[in-house]
Amino acid sequence: AILRTVRITRSGQSVLGLSQVADAEALEDDLRQAMQEAGQLYVHYQPIYSAETRSVVGFEALLRWNHPVRGLVAPMQFIPLAEQTELIVPLGAWVLETACAEAATWPEPWYLSVNLSPVQLEKIHLVREVRGALDRTGLAAERLELEITEGVLVAAEGGEISRLAELRRAGVRIAIDDFGTGYSSLGYLRQLPFDTIKIDRSFVRNLESDSSAQAIVGTIVELSRRLNREIVAEGVETEGQFSILNALQCHRVQGWLLGKPMPPEEIASTYFPAPLQEGLADRTLSWAE
Ligand code: C2E
Ligand code: MG
Ligand code: MG
Ligand code: MG
Repeated sequence: AILRTVRITRSGQSVLGLSQVADAEALEDDLRQAMQEAGQLYVHYQPIYSAETRSVVGFEALLRWNHPVRGLVAPMQFIPLAEQTELIVPLGAWVLETACAEAATWPEPWYLSVNLSPVQLEKIHLVREVRGALDRTGLAAERLELEITEGVLVAAEGGEISRLAELRRAGVRIAIDDFGTGYSSLGYLRQLPFDTIKIDRSFVRNLESDSSAQAIVGTIVELSRRLNREIVAEGVETEGQFSILNALQCHRVQGWLLGKPMPPEEIASTYFPAPLQEGLADRTLSWAE
């Protein structure tokens, strides 16, 4: 538990001063309030592309909080708070269900990726919760990927590993998020139940300028191919990074170059293939008759 607190704190504010503690308490009250009313909390979706075909293959759900006074609060600020207070348990369940319902309206092959907090993974009811969200929304388990940061997996205990394995048996894919930042040993990686590795943005950022970053990413891609796992590169911002990743045979790419997180309405207008949009239009016409 102590390890987790350090990890969580590291991703947010590192050391809290007194005024920051008071601020965190105020923010906690506000977050509880936001969870009671509609509109402040919502989900955006960032496209994930196939590197080979440069077409969309899925979307990652990212939680947003538009605070009535502070405006947009970054997830890096409020997610750690939600984790410390365990508000992330109902909040994460809400994100999962909302995103699954949204993804059920997308064209068949696209998948949905949802971030899972270590606090959610600790709970024994997680598997039931995920199954329930899939059942209620009608999204096929094969279209859902759950992301867990590498640092969490390194510290995962038996119960947590077995929950991930159970989710995989149900057809859900597991991705290791922010890979390369969590010190997992290669031997340990072999035992973990996962399907996908998401290479952390910090490695992608230096791809063009730093040949050792290229060597590291190339090695991770090679390793994952040998293990029969897929690779997603996060934070792709330039054409140069994209073409290096493509040359290294990275499977999927995600980043501002390809698309920023967007509200669900924008997905249909930007990405739904033309035949589907025509199909929708046809249906509206025949309804009018
Ligand atoms: P993450 O899961 O690693 O998500 C990727 C983050 O990188 C997102 O930040 C995304 O907006 C950002 N990003 C994507 N492409 C680029 C790029 O090309 N350049 C740069 N500079 N950034 C890019 P965001 O939305 O602020 O989320 C931050 C973190 O908060 C996420 O990191 C994830 O760990 C956490 N998070 C967000 N939504 C949820 C959620 O629903 N549940 C949980 N447990 N955590 C969440
Ligand atoms: Mg993620
Ligand atoms: Mg990530
Ligand atoms: Mg991250």
